[in-house]
Amino acid sequence: MPTILDGRVLSRKLNQGRVKAAAAKLDRRPGLAAVLVGSDPASQVYVRRKGVVAGRVGFVHKQINLSADIDQAGLLKVVAELNADSEIDGILVQLPLPKQLNATEVLDAIDASKDVDGFHPINAGLLAQGRPLFVPCTPLGVMRILEDASIPTSGKHAVIVGRSDIVGKPMAQLLLQANCTVTICHSRTQDLAAEVARADIVVAAVGRPEMVLGEWIQPGAVVVDVGINRLEDGRLVGDVHFESAAEKASHITPVPGGVGPMTIAMLMENTLRSAAVRQGVVLDF
Ligand code: NDP
Repeated sequence: MPTILDGRVLSRKLNQGRVKAAAAKLDRRPGLAAVLVGSDPASQVYVRRKGVVAGRVGFVHKQINLSADIDQAGLLKVVAELNADSEIDGILVQLPLPKQLNATEVLDAIDASKDVDGFHPINAGLLAQGRPLFVPCTPLGVMRILEDASIPTSGKHAVIVGRSDIVGKPMAQLLLQANCTVTICHSRTQDLAAEVARADIVVAAVGRPEMVLGEWIQPGAVVVDVGINRLEDGRLVGDVHFESAAEKASHITPVPGGVGPMTIAMLMENTLRSAAVRQGVVLDF
């Protein structure tokens, strides 16, 4: 049986440990603002969950609910107000946005020094140059999982399935900086099974339920499943076929309870970092 990489336990340890302790030492509590446009049920759940965790670690949390028919100028005004708000250290705009809105323009409008999701082009550029300010929370959470389990990365071959700006690409940058040899696969990759079979570390971030099969996995590989897919019967599954992959892997993340909670934990860590910088405090982690 592989080692199950439990993101619930690790996220709780980080949040309730060093994040909460460091936040309590600041003169002003870290402030996180979440902007929710419309009433998409999944987005509502995500924003609520982030707010609950923010409260637990002692942050000020502000949720701004906007009507689904808000126009671009209206949303940009809200972002500008949050940029100027001295009580707010981190701003997140929950995606996806309704179709009439230009998400890229909205994300670009967030002050890069409050961009705790790490999506701003300045933060993407800094990450690519190996001098990150804010790193996107999901790939950062994956790195914390690997570090916590003492999984070696130097010289290892990492295969990432998916090349999105929020998961696949920053994941590749982080693994490259951790001295992996990195392969990025996507929908045009010719022989996905053969690419995955060469991996010491597989990260699946595709959005297709149970697509990565155990028979593709090299014995002893580390398997990280970023995917979150709701099946028609209501079950939540990842992008990896867990049962068959678990027969081959040395370590594997479950869905749910793997990468998901770590994403929220890293949002808290990024917000704490922002607050610390704003208050001239140096964190020891
Ligand atoms: P995107 O849809 O933005 O990207 C999916 C990527 O998968 C694309 O690069 C696409 O390739 C690639 N892809 C699609 N089909 C195939 C295929 N058949 N073979 C190989 N590659 C393929 O998704 P995200 O990166 O935003 O999210 C990926 C998954 O991770 C989703 O399940 C999402 O719900 C989950 N997620 C989980 C988070 C968490 O906290 N755990 C946070 C964020 C996302 P191409 O570029 O060629 O189209």
